[in-house]
Amino acid sequence: MNELEKRKLIIKLCLEMNASGLNQGTSGNISAMHERDMLITPTGVPYEDLESAHIAKCSLVYDSAEWEGPMKPSSEWHFHRAILKSNPAFGAVVHTHSTFATILSIARKPIPSCHYMIAAFGGNDVRCAEYATFGTPELSDNIIKAMKDRSACLLANHGMVVAGPNLEKAMWAAVELETLAKQYYHALLIGGMHLLPNTEMDRVLEKFQTYGQPQSSD
Ligand code: 13P
Ligand code: ZN
Repeated sequence: MNELEKRKLIIKLCLEMNASGLNQGTSGNISAMHERDMLITPTGVPYEDLESAHIAKCSLVYDSAEWEGPMKPSSEWHFHRAILKSNPAFGAVVHTHSTFATILSIARKPIPSCHYMIAAFGGNDVRCAEYATFGTPELSDNIIKAMKDRSACLLANHGMVVAGPNLEKAMWAAVELETLAKQYYHALLIGGMHLLPNTEMDRVLEKFQTYGQPQSSD
């Protein structure tokens, strides 16, 4: 996918995540790696007003707050850049204030192995990063800690973040995490929860290595 296609896809996914109810207003932000740069939504701009030229471009090589483009990047550029740099398997990041993930983040409850799909995030739970003010390097550090060996985490009193190999897969993961958060929240309400043991989660993690259609090499 070329740079313009990625810019257009970022905007399409922003519009879709608000239309579907996954996110609201100018909360949330999306980034994608492009060569040695990060393309990221601009800060505080309603998604309906976005044009491809408005997507900011920041270096993934130089640790600088500079960007290219007519609009300031998302206030959360610290954690988007840190996540993209943290794992070569990550090519895109989606951050939302989706309702059920945010409810759990307010209660500061990680999501345990209540459903086998937790394994889609790399282990037997999705942790909750410690609280830090939005847009700070401290929040970024807390997220990197909570995402050790994982591709997602909750952000205390804030929301959630997920990473994926590309934009479409990162958005799929964001929808999946919100679904799990909703299921876990409702399971907490009725009580008597059974969690899957680590031995079963290990089996699921193993099966996920070969789940789905074989990947084509092109
Ligand atoms: P931006 O508008 O700066 O992307 O911020 C939204 C947000 O979710 C902050 O955490
Ligand atoms: Zn946020």
